[in-house]
Amino acid sequence: MSRFDEIVSGYSNLVKSKLGLSSEQDEEIFVARRTICNACDFKSAMDRCLKCGCPLGAKTRSLDPATECPEKFW
Ligand code: SF4
Repeated sequence: MSRFDEIVSGYSNLVKSKLGLSSEQDEEIFVARRTICNACDFKSAMDRCLKCGCPLGAKTRSLDPATECPEKFW
């Protein structure tokens, strides 16, 4: 899966979250990642990861196995 596909998947899951359609297990993953990113020095003011350039709203919600924190924080 390309980075573009990962981001599209992440935004799709963001919409599911907003609509309350995500599973409780998936939401736990999203919240755990988001908590780590929010405290990370590599999070930009524009809510992007300064290491990979990805928008964090999508990146933290991509469930593709290839999606990972570039610093291995999650
Ligand atoms: S993906 Fe990793 S490096 Fe990037 S902001 Fe989140 S925790 Fe930091």
